[in-house]
Amino acid sequence: STDDDGLTVTDLVVEYSGARALDGISLRVAPGQRVALMGPNGAGKSTTIRALSRVLDLYRGRAVSGTIRFDGRNVGAMSPQEVVRAGIAHVPEGRKIFSELTVRENLKVAVPRAARGSAGDRIEQALSLFPALRGRLDMQGGWLSGGEQQMLAICRALMTGPRVLMIDELSLGLAPKVVYWIVEQLEVLRRDTHVGVLLVEQNARLALKFSDYAYVLENGRIAYSGDSDALLHDPEVESRYLGGG
Ligand code: ATP
Repeated sequence: STDDDGLTVTDLVVEYSGARALDGISLRVAPGQRVALMGPNGAGKSTTIRALSRVLDLYRGRAVSGTIRFDGRNVGAMSPQEVVRAGIAHVPEGRKIFSELTVRENLKVAVPRAARGSAGDRIEQALSLFPALRGRLDMQGGWLSGGEQQMLAICRALMTGPRVLMIDELSLGLAPKVVYWIVEQLEVLRRDTHVGVLLVEQNARLALKFSDYAYVLENGRIAYSGDSDALLHDPEVESRYLGGG
């Protein structure tokens, strides 16, 4: 793969009504790479995801300068729908599944029109990663456990056939055992399909264990970046973000 493959953000500046939220961040998710985006509340993680999903205007935000490119294409000129079609899928914070729809319906509605013919195959493929959902297909989404809802949110994102999966706060409110199961299945997915993952995560230890490369945001800037293994053993990162132990 060349530098033009994958997702590349360069010098991105974002403002909300003139207030700067991202102050020139650059990051990259190579094909098949697992990248973590970490940092405290208000650091700019959600803003980064919103910029990548092209939904900043819903929050009265604006990309002031910088570029976002994906497989050589200019994401900055795309609509949110075009971003998804280009192969960037978003698993939102809080899962946002349709609680009144069944699991099967939640998946079906996410299949793009152009892929309707292979909807069954896509659903099968996703369920093979998370077989716990198989027995729940006709159950309303609202009745699922938190972990199952997160699995469903990931499966729903997979319906679009992504090359990069952006996952916002994967572990929020979930038991560690469930989180590790999900993370293991994401690893299976990556081996099988070479999909890249951008993991936005408050739990720094989990984020670093799961990823190959990591960025730490602080006040809209990248304070640290590097191989996750190295960051996991960096004394400064350890004392600031990993609770010293
Ligand atoms: P959290 O984990 O709390 O969501 P975060 O790292 O995702 O934090 P952002 O939500 O991206 O951080 O916030 C970055 C900065 O932008 C903060 O100063 C925040 O107050 C500001 N901000 C975020 N959303 C808006 C908005 N809709 N309008 C105005 N300012 C905003």
